[in-house]
Amino acid sequence: MLAVCDGNNGCNQEFNLEKLEIEQLDDGIEKTYFKCPNCGKEFIAFYTDEAIRNKQKKIRKLKDANKIERLKKHTAIDMNVLRKRIEQEVI
Ligand SMILES: [Zn+2]
Repeated sequence: MLAVCDGNNGCNQEFNLEKLEIEQLDDGIEKTYFKCPNCGKEFIAFYTDEAIRNKQKKIRKLKDANKIERLKKHTAIDMNVLRKRIEQEVI
């Protein structure tokens, strides 16, 4: 996957995103991120907590496409809420 190092202080170089790194935070939260190989700028992909990871596990076991779709939407909302919460705490 091709990514561009944009945003604040980004170097604007394109780079090939090969793998995501995972960092363990407090309260069972995992931060999934990647870094620009040119300047080292960090980009957050998403955060997950235990509840979100449980839903993701459930999704993998489901076979009903409608149920999968619904649960994926819920998970995406949860991830957005979690990310906002974490980023507000950091600031
Ligand atoms: Zn960069």
